[in-house]
Amino acid sequence: MDSGTVAAVVIVGLLGAWGVWFAARALAIRRRLQGDRVVTCPETGQPAIVHIDLALAVTSTAGSAPAPLEACSRWAARGQCDQPCVCAAHLPASSASALVKAWAKDRTCTTCGGELVEHPLVGHHIALFEPGGITREWVDVAGERLPLALATCLPLCWNCHQAASFRRLYPELVVDRDDLTVHTDLPT
Ligand SMILES: [Zn+2]
Repeated sequence: MDSGTVAAVVIVGLLGAWGVWFAARALAIRRRLQGDRVVTCPETGQPAIVHIDLALAVTSTAGSAPAPLEACSRWAARGQCDQPCVCAAHLPASSASALVKAWAKDRTCTTCGGELVEHPLVGHHIALFEPGGITREWVDVAGERLPLALATCLPLCWNCHQAASFRRLYPELVVDRDDLTVHTDLPT
């Protein structure tokens, strides 16, 4: 193998290694920053939902400024702003899932006492038991409402949420065990 071929092999190998490294880094950044981020808007003092520009986050270099936001729940009414919350939006604790995880930590299901676990791959999420009796998975709560909902609702596991939803939607099909009568005088 001549020196030119060796150099070409080395270059291809380096490019391949760089490609693998870049892909792994991009995947890690997307996992860390994608989805709803819940911040307190400095202008209003109220929760706002923002999304980070993932394309810029992936291509940013170490030491550069945090990637900007690409969306905010307030922009439709207010117009774009200078993004004073962008640093807060990058904090791990600002993701909606992190908020719910912190809320559910060391708590158990209000109904069954079971563990509060998430199975996002199959679409099973921790649910909120609202004061009015309605239950809903946290992913079905509008992001701006999430902080208030977490402050006023009780935690429920996914199974109990399904049971409560069925009971609410189809009450005529539900029979409580306490209502069952055991007939012991059946003819023989
Ligand atoms: Zn439960």
